[in-house]
Amino acid sequence: MSIAERTRREGALASAAAVVELCRKCEIGGTRRHSVYGEGNPCAALLVIGEGPGETEDELGRPFVGRAGVLLDKMLLAIGLPREDVYICNTVKCRPTFDDGVRLRNRAPTPVEMANCRPYLEEQIAVIQPRAILCLGAPSAKSFLGPTFSITKQRGRWFEGPAAIPLMATFHPAYILRMTGGELEATKRLVWNDLKLIRAKLDEPPAAVVAPAPDQPSLLSFEEQSPDRVLLFAVTLPVLLDGKIRPDRGHRPLRNCTSFQV
Ligand code: URA
Repeated sequence: MSIAERTRREGALASAAAVVELCRKCEIGGTRRHSVYGEGNPCAALLVIGEGPGETEDELGRPFVGRAGVLLDKMLLAIGLPREDVYICNTVKCRPTFDDGVRLRNRAPTPVEMANCRPYLEEQIAVIQPRAILCLGAPSAKSFLGPTFSITKQRGRWFEGPAAIPLMATFHPAYILRMTGGELEATKRLVWNDLKLIRAKLDEPPAAVVAPAPDQPSLLSFEEQSPDRVLLFAVTLPVLLDGKIRPDRGHRPLRNCTSFQV
């Protein structure tokens, strides 16, 4: 990824975040402290999509920074993905709340709130162009796969997501945190299997390598090619030749990792 492309993506996401900050399509646009647009690597191979910001996220304007976020960081790190290497966001960008008479409490986003926020999420996906999407929890997965999606029966499977991007759902870290004992161990095992599938997907060679094969000269000579394209050719050629050198992998190797800690 060129520096120019990374800068372009950063700019596009920052502009979109500024639009979201002004958005008042839903009532929760007026009750939230901060919008929570999303954060991470604009060139990330993995896009993680949760449900909606909670109290800590609302306070800080950042996704997954509460207890569930701490667990999410550990889950990602267990498959060699530091938080800053992925992009993390939610189906809705404002904290969905209700007033219990004493304070604002979290609730699930309504279908209307999700629909109002969908263009922002679609724009994030279009800018980041991830190689895989991980939905955390049923509401996030259902927003892509429809209301009949069952997180217990269909988590850990690949589906065709938006723009034909492979999409998988797993249990939400907040759900894992509510468990104890044998139930926790069993759920952890399932989630760990899902995470390994994510890792395997990211380890697959990129589907479309645009560089011409060595015996198929490009229509343009090297002098006519943009410097970016010449560099891309130089970097991808070894991949074409033997598939062993993987310059696109920015993430750390999975070393003797057997699960994640809760
Ligand atoms: N849960 C979510 O779904 N998203 C967050 O950002 C935090 C907790």
